[in-house]
Amino acid sequence: MAKHKGRAWHSRLLAAALGVTAMAAATSVWTAQADPGQGGAQARVSAPDAQPQVTKVAADIAHASDRGAQGVNITIDDGPDPVWTPQVLRLLKDSGVKATFCMVGTQAEAYPDLVKQVVADGHRLCDHTVSHDTAMDGKSEAYQSQQILDAERMITKASGGVRPQYYRAPGGAFTPYSRQLAASRGMRPLGWNVDTKDFEHPGVDTMVATVKSEISNGPTILFHDAGGDRAQTLAALREVLPWLKEQGYSFGFPVR
Ligand SMILES: [Zn+2]
Repeated sequence: MAKHKGRAWHSRLLAAALGVTAMAAATSVWTAQADPGQGGAQARVSAPDAQPQVTKVAADIAHASDRGAQGVNITIDDGPDPVWTPQVLRLLKDSGVKATFCMVGTQAEAYPDLVKQVVADGHRLCDHTVSHDTAMDGKSEAYQSQQILDAERMITKASGGVRPQYYRAPGGAFTPYSRQLAASRGMRPLGWNVDTKDFEHPGVDTMVATVKSEISNGPTILFHDAGGDRAQTLAALREVLPWLKEQGYSFGFPVR
């Protein structure tokens, strides 16, 4: 359902400045929260990033890594997907890599156990809207708000109370309004620097070559775990992750 069509926005995103990235002082203290929606199922409270309280973050589009100049951010979009997300999670676990999962609200609602698994494995959540409308930047503020805030609620409910820490507009269709809205909800607008174009099935070698040649553009790499056959994505990650380690990169999260 999360199809990517029309990539004209891509240059726009790339044009977005690597930019000033204010490091928000993150409180990692979990405070117990009444959780009426859980029906007795205990939310996993061990996740270090669980932040029930909402703290406003910067509204400009983040690209930098919290690991600094030698950090890379693996970001994985459009899931969770019952076929591909478990395989991606297994590969990341075997590789000792933490990533950021930009989830579509309806997918999160449909597969809450996968959302919980993503959190339990130490990854972070990102709001990728309810229905992945790549033209949302041309629509009303009420529509943008519904897309962002409903997805925030759907993802947070599916996770058992762990909130998304980022907001990535589908296809990079950010607006000043949507960035400010997400930031006010503690979700840092999240861009990317390296687009593997895995949704176009370019071939594993091409995807790996893209990462190798474009990682100098910046640290945030885009993959997908839904929206079609992701076998190439898995194969590319299997090559890319060890290569990045060999180059001296460490795996982090986008700055907030
Ligand atoms: Zn997407």
